[in-house]
Amino acid sequence: MLQRPPAEPGMSEADIDTPALIIDLDAMEGNLDRMAAFCRGAGVRLRAHAKTHKSPIIAHWQIARGAIGQCVQKTAEAEVLAWGGVSDILVSNEVVSSRKLARLAALTRMSKISLCADSAAVVDQIEAVAESFATRLTVLVEIDVSGGRCGVEPGEPATALAVRIARSRHLVFGGLQSYQGRAQHLRTEQERRDAIGQAAARTADTVAAIRKHKLECAVVGGAGTGTFAHEAASGVYNELQAGSYVFMDADYARNRPAPDFEQSLFVLSTVMSAARHGIAVLDCGHKGIAVDSGLPLIHARQDIDYVGASDEHGSLVLRSDPGSLAIGETLRLIPGHCDPTVDRYDWYVGIRGKRVECVFPVAARGMMQ
Ligand SMILES: *Cc1c(COP(=O)(O)O)cnc(C)c1O
Repeated sequence: MLQRPPAEPGMSEADIDTPALIIDLDAMEGNLDRMAAFCRGAGVRLRAHAKTHKSPIIAHWQIARGAIGQCVQKTAEAEVLAWGGVSDILVSNEVVSSRKLARLAALTRMSKISLCADSAAVVDQIEAVAESFATRLTVLVEIDVSGGRCGVEPGEPATALAVRIARSRHLVFGGLQSYQGRAQHLRTEQERRDAIGQAAARTADTVAAIRKHKLECAVVGGAGTGTFAHEAASGVYNELQAGSYVFMDADYARNRPAPDFEQSLFVLSTVMSAARHGIAVLDCGHKGIAVDSGLPLIHARQDIDYVGASDEHGSLVLRSDPGSLAIGETLRLIPGHCDPTVDRYDWYVGIRGKRVECVFPVAARGMMQ
């Protein structure tokens, strides 16, 4: 069952059925242009992360502006993008199941597919599947640069894995995946610069160690919306994987300084109760908007606080004029975290000014297998 499309082109914003996921198209296009210009100026490639938008349509808007391809986190996301015509996809993640690997091997007929590995056992699995499909999969060695997630130790362990991959007739050694996820939301510029400085140094050492074996790292990839300028300036990374920049969220807005992008993603929500003075209730709780990185903010209404989310209710407190919200009024919510918010909806509603311009699917919604 798909959700009912909440709007049609030409409608006014106030008539959209809520809760609905809306994009301010002017703001989003500005973000796409700004990141594209940054990458051109810095001389680095952009491989934008599709875990944010989950849409081949938005992927093609990024590619039209110069992005070389997309990152995904999941096999099923890779399928949706490849079927949607994206020709170069990196699964920036470990894939551990021969069924999933078979699906990726099959996709190599359509698109260039790369994936990450951080253990020899999984490289053995990838090799066996590539051989049985008579194809070659490109494998990047993921290194842990203090992100505290996946990744083999930089230096010797990473080098041994790179040599193992390069030795295979069925695999192509693609380079290094070096993402420092924890650094993205460090609040000060100094903390972020230091964290990426350390990550870049360990990455550079690993590139050099691998080169001693006469192997080149064609891709040295990493970076997100919080730190990409530091990876770009390091001279070590050649591919940036920022994703959230397309939409932004309340949590990224708390970085100092905040990334230079506009909020373009909102959940439109309707006031459904204002029975008591100074309090109002919206039709969007935590089933409609992610709260893992904090409660939503209210766009353009500093006088209203979203103070509590239950399943289907969002509680508001009005600070300045307690009688100023009418039942039926709609508000734009700024999500605390954009990616999981997108994953709650089947449809994007694109808005220009206050009118609906397009309604298109969140095609890879729920694609986590
Ligand atoms: C999430 C993620 C990104 C993108 O980070 P944003 O904060 O959304 O810009 C890049 N690379 C990897 C591996 C990720 O998991």
